[in-house]
Formats: sequence, C-alpha cells, structure tokens
Amino acid sequence: MKRIYLDYAATTPLDPKVFEAMKPYFKGKFGNASEPHSWGQETRKAIEKAREQVASSLGAKAKEIIFTSCATESINLAHKGVLEAFLKNGEKKKKGEIPHLTTSSIEHKAGIESARHLESQGYRVTFLPVDKSGMVRVTDVKKAIRPTTILVSIMYVNNEVGAIEPIDRIGEAISQINKLRVDNGKEKVFFHTDATQAIQYLDCDVDKLGVDLLSLTGHKFYAPKGIGVLYVREGTSIIRQQDGGGQEFGLRSGTENVPYIVGLGKAFELIERNKKENAERIGKLRKKLVEGVLKIPDAQFTGRLNQSAPHIASFIVKGAEGEAMLLHLDAVGVAASSGSACTSGLLEPSHVLTAMGYKPKEAHGSLRFSLGKDTTEKEIDYVIKVLPGIVKKLREMAPKGVFNE
Ligand code: PLP
Repeated sequence: MKRIYLDYAATTPLDPKVFEAMKPYFKGKFGNASEPHSWGQETRKAIEKAREQVASSLGAKAKEIIFTSCATESINLAHKGVLEAFLKNGEKKKKGEIPHLTTSSIEHKAGIESARHLESQGYRVTFLPVDKSGMVRVTDVKKAIRPTTILVSIMYVNNEVGAIEPIDRIGEAISQINKLRVDNGKEKVFFHTDATQAIQYLDCDVDKLGVDLLSLTGHKFYAPKGIGVLYVREGTSIIRQQDGGGQEFGLRSGTENVPYIVGLGKAFELIERNKKENAERIGKLRKKLVEGVLKIPDAQFTGRLNQSAPHIASFIVKGAEGEAMLLHLDAVGVAASSGSACTSGLLEPSHVLTAMGYKPKEAHGSLRFSLGKDTTEKEIDYVIKVLPGIVKKLREMAPKGVFNE
C-alpha cells in the first residue's frame, strides 16, 4: 500500500542535504566547542557559521541567536526568563509590582502551560480570546496591556488551524506604547512570538515583525528533532533558566549539540531558497484539497483560507469523530492529525477550536491535513477520493445524539 504523509505540521523528515551537512560532526569533528584546541575551534567555527545562517534568515545579529533543544524550551525561556528578570530588579520588587504577561488562548501547549505555570507562581496572566477564524484582535492586545505588563506573547501561525496572527500590527502597537513608556521613564513591554509554523513559508524578519523574542524548532522544516532557537533582541531583560558552564551567551548552559546546530543552519539555508515559490506550490495543492473536502456535506474549513498558512488545512466534519477518521485514513495509508487528540484516555476537545467558538461536540470532528515539500497532486487526489467514504461510514456508525442530532 502506498503511504501518504500529510502531517508535516507535526514533524518533517530530515532533508538528505541536512543529514550530509551534519554527518562529519558525529565522528571526526567531535570537539567540545568551548575548548581552545583545534578540535574545539573546528566545532566552534561550525556553530558560529550556523548562527550566522539563522541570523541572516531572521534579519538579526548573530549574537542574538540562542540555540536550544526545541521550541518548547525556547518559549519557556522567553516567558519565564523575561518575567523573572523583572522581579530581579530590586526596586520593582520593593514596590510590590507583580509582572503581567498577555498571551492568547490558542497558543501551542508550550505557551499555554508555561503561562499557566507562571500564573501558579503568582504572576498575572491574561489569555486573550480569538474570533471565529482564530485571529487575535490588535485592539484586544492594546486593551490588555497594563502598567505592569512586561511581556506580550502571541504565536505567528497557529499549528492546528493555520491562522496567521497580525504579528507586525501587534508589534507596531507595542512600539507606540513603548514610546510613551520610555518618555515617562518606564520599562518597555517586550514582545515574543512563537514562529514555529511560520518560519518555512512566511517572512520572519524580526524588525519587520517588531518582535524582541522569537521561538522555533528545527524538525518542522526538515532539520532534526531536538534543536531549536530563541532569538533575543539585544537589550532585552531576560535571565537564564539553566545554570552551568555559561554557553550560548550565558542564556543556555550545556555543551552545544554541534551536529544538530549545523543541521539547523543548513535547513535555514535551504528554506530561504525559493520560499515564495514553495509557499505558492503548497498553497495551490492545499486549495485543491480544501475544495475537495468541502464537497463532503457538513464539512467546514476552520478559519479563513486567505488568512492562514499555506501548508495547513483544518476542517470540522460534522458527525464524524476525529480520532476515528485518523484511524480509517491510516488504514488506507494516509497520515493526518486531529485537534481532538486522545490524552490519557480522555477525549479532550481542542483548546484552539473551543476558543474559536466551536462547541466541544463540533470540535471532536476535527481533522487536519498538513502538506510539505514532497506532497504531490496525486496524493491530494487520493485523499479527496477516499475521505467521503470514510466519513459516510463513520456517520452511519455514530450513535444518535453523540456526533449527530
Ligand atoms: N509551537 C508550535 C506552534 C508548534 O507547532 C510546536 C510543535 O508542535 C511547538 C511549539 C513545540 O515544538 P517542540 O515540540 O519541537 O518543542
């Protein structure tokens, strides 16, 4: 049976060119980059080359790029590091000011859970609502900023529905607020974005976006799992979450994972080539997929097609349960995903879909396809052909009142 992978938003395969670039650093070139001998200098040079590759793609300075293990680590470092840095300032502590974080209710779990952790530690957190298409409103962000707000953290592209958030407009609004703050001798509001699902297809220039911090993870764009980046604009108040040898400019101690860093640098170089053309090609395939799936009665696209990342096609299929659709698709060789992933035996409706206003019952019918560089038109045709039959079968099997009226 032919297998069709349409779960690129979950993870991507390693690009053979990335693997080739990494290989020498597993065996021959193994030196610890902190050592002054030639083995160490060889790997130091490779790390700094990768740092330049990442920086150039983000329009940043090399010294603003911190290598981490994944986006989850980067997001945690950004959230906790910026809020804790504020409290370390003795004067603020004396005044008893409690730092405030503004984020959205549709962040990846890494963002939601790190914000919840901060809340449990006594920090103040606002989770902003989104509209029916999964968009954060700039006016809501502005309204939520209080005198004690230290950090705003809004994701660039939502991983479940693909909604592209208005990051540049939020960045602009924060910059206006900061002008007034600086005039009044107050501290800046910092702005973080999780660009994990955006990096491959959208412009992630940090100045154009107006962000101070940006997180991403390599395995979403053909680098290996286990390597990530946190961009930290020069002058941002942030403190490390891991103590040790002081690597990565003192922000992330631990001996550098040289082969993975080299691989990430290479993956950046590769996605920078033909970014626009790739987005257009994937976008066309996605359009075909969406048109095909929407022929199924009572299937709907979640969000707005022209305001979402080109690789994500997410649907609510009324009367069919997400996990069941996945299993039936898998049985015919197709890998997809659902927002209603079953955790610890409980079928939790997706926090993203419920924040968008879908009822838990509707959210259980969620189905996400995500496309990638090896996706072909033939594969899309196959999915459009097999899905209606699967949905029909599941609707017939569903107990009355559970997924159907
Ligand atoms: N943020 C977004 C938007 C994601 O899609 C993911 C991965 O699913 C993450 C963060 C976390 O990435 P990782 O598990 O590599 O830390």
